[in-house]
Amino acid sequence: MGKFVYDFEEGNRDLKDLLGGKGANLAEMTNLGLPVPPGFTITTDACREYLRTGELPGGLDRQVGEHLATLEAKMGRRLGDSGDPLLVSVRSGAKFSMPGMMETVLNVGLTDSSVAGLAAQAGGDERFAWDSYRRLIQMFGKTVCDVPGEEFEHALDDAKLAAGTRDDLGLDAAALRGLVGRYKEIFREHTGRDFPQDPREQLDLAVSAVFRSWNADRAVLYRRQERIPTDLGTAVNVVAMVFGNLGADSGTGVAFTRDPATGEPGVYGDYLANAQGEDVVAGIRNTVPLQALEEVNKPAYDELMAIMAKLEEHYRDLCDIEFTIERGKLWMLQTRVGKRTAAAAFVIATHLVDEGVIDLDEALRRVNGAQLAQLMFPTFDLSQEPEQLTRGVGASPGAAVGKAVFDAQHAVAMAKEGEQVILVRRETNPDDLPGMIAAQGILTSRGGKTSHAAVVARGMGKTCVCGADDLDVNLHKGQFTVDGHVVSEGDVISVDGTTGRVYLGAVPVQPSPVVQYFEGTLDAAADPLVSAVHRILTHADATRRLKVRTNADTGEDAARARRFGAQGIGLCRTEHMFLGERRALVERLILAGTPQERDAALAELLPLQRDDFVELFRQMRDLPVTVRLIDPPLHEFLPPLEDLAVKVAVAEERGQDPGHDKDLLDAVRRMHEENPMLGLRGVRLGLVIPGLFAMQVRAIVEAAAQVDGARPEIMVPLVGAVQELETIRAEAEKIIGEHDVDVKIGTMIEVPRAALTAGDIAQAADFFSFGTNDLTQMGWGFSRDDVEGAFFWRYLELGIFGVSPFESIDRDGVGRLVRIAVDEGRAARPELHFGVCGEHGGDPESVHFFHEVGLDYVSCSPFRVPVARLEAGRAAV
Ligand code: PEP
Ligand code: MG
Repeated sequence: MGKFVYDFEEGNRDLKDLLGGKGANLAEMTNLGLPVPPGFTITTDACREYLRTGELPGGLDRQVGEHLATLEAKMGRRLGDSGDPLLVSVRSGAKFSMPGMMETVLNVGLTDSSVAGLAAQAGGDERFAWDSYRRLIQMFGKTVCDVPGEEFEHALDDAKLAAGTRDDLGLDAAALRGLVGRYKEIFREHTGRDFPQDPREQLDLAVSAVFRSWNADRAVLYRRQERIPTDLGTAVNVVAMVFGNLGADSGTGVAFTRDPATGEPGVYGDYLANAQGEDVVAGIRNTVPLQALEEVNKPAYDELMAIMAKLEEHYRDLCDIEFTIERGKLWMLQTRVGKRTAAAAFVIATHLVDEGVIDLDEALRRVNGAQLAQLMFPTFDLSQEPEQLTRGVGASPGAAVGKAVFDAQHAVAMAKEGEQVILVRRETNPDDLPGMIAAQGILTSRGGKTSHAAVVARGMGKTCVCGADDLDVNLHKGQFTVDGHVVSEGDVISVDGTTGRVYLGAVPVQPSPVVQYFEGTLDAAADPLVSAVHRILTHADATRRLKVRTNADTGEDAARARRFGAQGIGLCRTEHMFLGERRALVERLILAGTPQERDAALAELLPLQRDDFVELFRQMRDLPVTVRLIDPPLHEFLPPLEDLAVKVAVAEERGQDPGHDKDLLDAVRRMHEENPMLGLRGVRLGLVIPGLFAMQVRAIVEAAAQVDGARPEIMVPLVGAVQELETIRAEAEKIIGEHDVDVKIGTMIEVPRAALTAGDIAQAADFFSFGTNDLTQMGWGFSRDDVEGAFFWRYLELGIFGVSPFESIDRDGVGRLVRIAVDEGRAARPELHFGVCGEHGGDPESVHFFHEVGLDYVSCSPFRVPVARLEAGRAAV
């Protein structure tokens, strides 16, 4: 039988897998000698076993009993004792923070008899004791026994109505005692039993409920969104209660050792006097800045500052904390390395370097590509002076424009219709999560930077303004009023999560400062954030082994990518050069009845293609440019079958000659494929349509001859057998031989067979570039154009994968094909060069994989280039 329970003295911060983040850090603080209320943690092992079997593991009962006895001895009180009760909180705490997604039960141990003891402890404060008891029944009823929360809410409203007050604080001891009676009735009506009067039974039931809350809908959804594994389970922390609601010399707060929004140094926090911790996080009452505490309780404030300095020094990073002051005495309830905005992550990392706390390698580890991508989002262009409605707290940066919506479900429905929406609420709670995910941004009228809305939005990288307290939000009418304006559901508003400003109408957006810096229009020194990005990215460049190229098929994209740091083009898809006005030439090519007609069409395409390549080679002078020969089936360039058939039928019906359309229709019918993705495309076109690839090769070679510093590489798509490549190579070499240019010839590895015969294919290739889009499509047998919307939700729900394999490389399957091809290709031909040009080349997780398997470069879209540079650096430190 294992050990399922740890006193705080027994744990430490490295035990997050076992004790969860909260438990591990409570242990760490306890061992640092900080004032943590005594308690113990029940492990995630116990949770996993409970979720698997539906029963608490054998021995847990006894272990909890032993640790509870130790806790009672420390406190000199017994759980639920009628004269002098010990009360405990039962709190969830998983390895990764999931703010508000799981359950917590406070005041466990209160019963009909111990409520008097609690009043005595509180100096005869009966009101406090009855209020604590009614909170327990409410939380316990809802969380442990699934009693509908509104029942309690309504009873509370009725009690306030009867007492003629609008505020909870207006209820006196007698009213609260009456309310407890009513709550117990509600409890009985819904559960068929009395509210448990055995304190230990309360504790055990609460522990099981917290375990079960791991699988609550909102927790499941949050994990999917944040890519947190589904099988970790949560730990449970049982902690001696301390009370922040014992009067004016008590209170509770949340604080950060630095500003989590901007990263600027200096303690930042919110404080709420005479309240319990849950009140702050829920944003129910508006908090005051932490500095206000200094005025009311200087010793506790000073102690808090000293503790925060100690925590930062110890964790060498921004920490966030939750604390409670009970009758003037400070207690630490939680700490962890704090969540922060993307901007703050970069700024804090470089500040810590300057403060000598960490080195640049560590700074690089502490930021990531997803954060950098967020910093590249556009901001509002305010030059037209849009009408400002109000200003709240900028809680999560970004510029969001959308229709105001006041209900989470409605937000989801509208987003499904393709509408952009802003979710407007008084405050959010975990049930709003689907709406928050669906919305472009979130606006609330209550709560600070530590409210639920703010914490969750920051975690998701979603724009959020909270605490805009001028807003009078009327959820029933579906509108808010501010300063005489009425904004109704469906009206467009613009929300700036950086400044906290909210505007009426759609405000135009402009490039972010970070993008302006990449574009070369903003100096790195001009802005602290840009300068932080510049320093860390420069270090990433100096550190990384992987080169970063771009996927670009126009001069404009190539030029931008080069400004963003691209070291060449890894994929130019030539098919765009067959679109627009050039379609007519492609039609002629397809319809050609004789070799002469075909050659004539190809001859007209040649100079057009050559000009395209000249432009690319110029923009990428001295850097490699990989041009891929045409890949999609040619009929993709013809009009759709149905349209043509109708056109021809209509013409014939009217007795007109459909002429050219009839020929086209015949061609489309002739070329129709049931599975075009597996049909006549890529190298197969080159083998079947005489002169097509030769024309493209000639255009590349002639363009290269015109541009100094051109470094062309020709890439053949969809190769599955070395013979295919050899045939094309022989044809290309003849043309190249006519000119004095150096051209490499390589192949994509995007058909599984190519990966499995890489040793052979290497004999005919100068380089391999992994087409991980097709390799995923053919490796899994998933149509890349259809499956994501169709059934991936079920795969994600079942945890078959945590993220679409088209987004992030499937290491075990498709990744294995990549590994085989690298190993066997390199063994056959040591000088072979390797890259990747599928979408995965710009995905942070995948970049690390490509570094590990030993590729030479990744290639991605221009805007992803800085992200890939950063992640390639991170992979190397
Ligand atoms: C690929 O398959 O990964 C690739 C880059 O080619 P395309 O996306 O054009 O099929
Ligand atoms: Mg492909």
